[in-house]
Amino acid sequence: MKFIADSMLGRLARWLRLLGHDTLYYPHIEDRLLVRIAHEEDRILLTRDTRLINFRGLKNYLLLSENDTFGQLKKVITSFGLALPLSDNENGPALPPPRCSLCNSVLEDIPKEQAKDHVPEYVYLSSESFKKCRKCEKYYWEGTHQEKMRNKLMEILYN
Ligand SMILES: [Zn+2]
Repeated sequence: MKFIADSMLGRLARWLRLLGHDTLYYPHIEDRLLVRIAHEEDRILLTRDTRLINFRGLKNYLLLSENDTFGQLKKVITSFGLALPLSDNENGPALPPPRCSLCNSVLEDIPKEQAKDHVPEYVYLSSESFKKCRKCEKYYWEGTHQEKMRNKLMEILYN
């Protein structure tokens, strides 16, 4: 399942990418082009804009009435039954690999020593799992950030 988010949904797009869901996002893009990419690449358009969904040729979309990112995220997760990196999901469907929050590329696992000169020392010492975006050269690691992300997901889904 692939998405394209409209220009109002940048934060939502970043969350979906970190959760491994292929999500295109352009801060400045013409409506017509947005709809065309959705059609050509078979992507579900995520939008807050009721005008957009009336475009000819648009088949798959989700209209979000929520104002806040987490309300929107919950709507997308529940509408499409997205797999999530939560502890109660261990025997569930396989999770897609996480993507770079900046550019949507799939992150690559890298050996710990490769991250050494690119992450803060305390991170290097306390984390074992490192990933990198080849395109942005941005480093990611398993740590407090992931834990916060999981806690936030639990909070928005089950409260
Ligand atoms: Zn990237």
